[in-house]
Amino acid sequence: MKAGIIYLFFFFLSNTLFSQDNLYDIYALEFAKNDWKSVVSDIAVGSIVKDTVKGHFVIWLLRNKNGKNILVDAGFILKEPMATYVRPDSVLQKLQVKPGDITDIILTHPHWDHMGGIHLFPNAMVWMQEDDFNYFVGKAWQKDGFTDGLEKNDVPKIIQKNLEGKLTLVKGDSIEIIPGIRVFIGSKHTKESQYVLVNGASGKTIIASDNIWFYANLKYLLPIPHYTFDPVGYVNQMKRMKRLVSHTDLIIPGHDIEVFSKFPKVTEGVVKIELPKK
Ligand SMILES: [Zn+2]
Repeated sequence: MKAGIIYLFFFFLSNTLFSQDNLYDIYALEFAKNDWKSVVSDIAVGSIVKDTVKGHFVIWLLRNKNGKNILVDAGFILKEPMATYVRPDSVLQKLQVKPGDITDIILTHPHWDHMGGIHLFPNAMVWMQEDDFNYFVGKAWQKDGFTDGLEKNDVPKIIQKNLEGKLTLVKGDSIEIIPGIRVFIGSKHTKESQYVLVNGASGKTIIASDNIWFYANLKYLLPIPHYTFDPVGYVNQMKRMKRLVSHTDLIIPGHDIEVFSKFPKVTEGVVKIELPKK
């Protein structure tokens, strides 16, 4: 009996420790901005709302007590001038993270502004949906392929990661790729874009990346123009995201500058994604 109680004690202890390891601090880091303003009716198909939304470029960092430093998307290397730009590996220094510390990059989709920086993180394992990878390196560039948002120079970067044994292709929906981190598909922002559900400090948190461009898309449940292979799927996934979290504020869109006024500031250009503690 006594042994049973001791066993139970260690069972609960290890369970608690285990779940702590799989709990992540989540940060959004702005690395580039221009004077990007859009009216809602331009970014949400079917809306007549003329309010303005402001956009910027962000990467997300997930850290746990186990030494994992995971990026969701890797930003881009600047080619044309922008109002502000800090290279994604440099912007991480704001949180005392070195490029070699990044253990993983979850690539939500292969658009230029999300994958152009993958080569900056030499130790990182890249996680990408297999169908997105296949399309990006193959059919996209053939007759009738859809290359809008894709950058030719990014193809050798992902191939190089593969040659180094640092690419894991994920196939399917609702897959826990790393303890505490699960990916979902169906938005079809690209051929098979994915979004990320993280066990965060405030509960399950979704880094939607461009599977939601702006809060307005989520609010009105309207798809983005042009950049989706399936507008109905795009909306259905936003509805699904709402079911996956306990609070809508824990759904983080890809380009909405309002994220930075919604969450606590850590330092200039960095916010921590967590809800106020009650
Ligand atoms: Zn984007």
